[in-house]
Amino acid sequence: MGVEEAAEIVGCLRASFRSGHTKPRAWRVQQLEAVLMLLQDREKEIQQAVYSDLAKPPYETFTGEVALVENACKLAVKKLKEWMSPEKVSTSFALYPSSAEIVPEPLGVVLVIAAWNFPFLLAMDPLVGAVAAGNAVVLKPSELAPATSNLLARLIPFYLDNSAVCVVEGGVSETSALLDQKWDKIFYTGSSRVAKLVMAAASKHLTPVTLELGGKCPAIIDSSADLRVACRRIAVGKWGNNNGQACISPDYILADESIVHKLIETLTSTLKEFYGEDPRASPDLARIVNFSHFTRLTKLLDHPSTESTIVHGGQRDEKNLYIAPTILLNVPCDAPIMKEEIFGPLLPILTVKTVDEAVNFVTARPKPLALYVFTKRKSVKDVVLRDTSAGGMVVNDTMLHFVVLDLPFGGVGESGMGAYHGKHSFDNFSHRKAVLRRSFFADILARYPPYSSLKQRL
Ligand code: NAD
Repeated sequence: MGVEEAAEIVGCLRASFRSGHTKPRAWRVQQLEAVLMLLQDREKEIQQAVYSDLAKPPYETFTGEVALVENACKLAVKKLKEWMSPEKVSTSFALYPSSAEIVPEPLGVVLVIAAWNFPFLLAMDPLVGAVAAGNAVVLKPSELAPATSNLLARLIPFYLDNSAVCVVEGGVSETSALLDQKWDKIFYTGSSRVAKLVMAAASKHLTPVTLELGGKCPAIIDSSADLRVACRRIAVGKWGNNNGQACISPDYILADESIVHKLIETLTSTLKEFYGEDPRASPDLARIVNFSHFTRLTKLLDHPSTESTIVHGGQRDEKNLYIAPTILLNVPCDAPIMKEEIFGPLLPILTVKTVDEAVNFVTARPKPLALYVFTKRKSVKDVVLRDTSAGGMVVNDTMLHFVVLDLPFGGVGESGMGAYHGKHSFDNFSHRKAVLRRSFFADILARYPPYSSLKQRL
């Protein structure tokens, strides 16, 4: 697809949006119900497609992708009337008589660009917000998850309104052609490298952007933590969600030095409980998405600064794109694995002496998308909450803030801008129009020229 074809697609959607037919609540509910029907009819096909792209266990695709889209849709159907209603605000006595309200309106024609790691969720979740808010949408799934991209391109025209929702498949050239167009919003999920290109393209038209990016998400573990529970929750957040290929996977651990050996022992035994003696044979561990990411990860492991720090795992099988769950201890801070987002099954543990040292480590680096802290001490929770900044934070667990629909999900600083989920998705794709209503009654002449000397003294 070239620039001309992209322009034609956007032109058709814009005409459709201008006709006004995406604005009524009935249309929005119809589209959301169509998504619910798609989920119900095609659950197995979705699981197969994601399996074919990532060898992701079907259970993970259900709990971490399909069910989340379903929840988002159901909430939007239930709450849409309330979300669409104007919000009354008070006006000052000086404006008497008057009334004021905030009226949410759709932005227009929006572009959603998705990443490959949760290829169904990251395409459909923003799309749900966009149609709930009454927009026309172009969805560009990731070419690195081709089976899911293909499935979306096949199913969406079958279930949703073709005149207002459209899927464009492709990679860099197709996305570039789309980015060349004028949009009313671009919602992008992916790397910060590409986010800069997205933002530069958007700036040509002053198009607002939401950027859902990544980074290195730390997990701080202090000596009071219940290590059995903490290790299960860290292991499921790291290896149980797409084998570490998730934006909110714990990227590294900052552990109190007094518990580090017990921590490694417990994490290792948790891994055995989850995936057996030979994780390669486990059906519950996703594979690395492709050879290029496999090579990137093995290079991180084989770097001279890192090789000797492996305390568990490290095995790999290139033919099957498998890398074992791997734990590393006290990797030097300037090693590549501590410089870039890992996005894979490698988990470095660094020791700290105090919680302040952990906090200083985190704040000396770009603000993460998520931060986890495991502790029973109120003082530690308070310090970490007060003295660090992150897109989201979870105390004594990992990743679960993503599923709380009333919490805004998004980054801060280098981990992104803008947020979505639940009502936040609706707001993300809406403009909150300020409306002041007055009558012709009580027209106070003092505000009009000429400003006589009497008026100036008032
Ligand atoms: P990516 O940036 O390579 O690709 C994302 C999208 O951008 C794809 O649809 C791709 O086709 C498109 N794209 C790639 N190169 C492009 C170019 N040169 N010009 C225009 N478009 C281009 O990202 P990825 O590898 O798919 O995703 C991994 C990153 O995404 C990680 O950093 C991860 O943390 C982040 N992520 C964030 C979230 C979140 O919700 N915050 C979720 C998942 C992944």
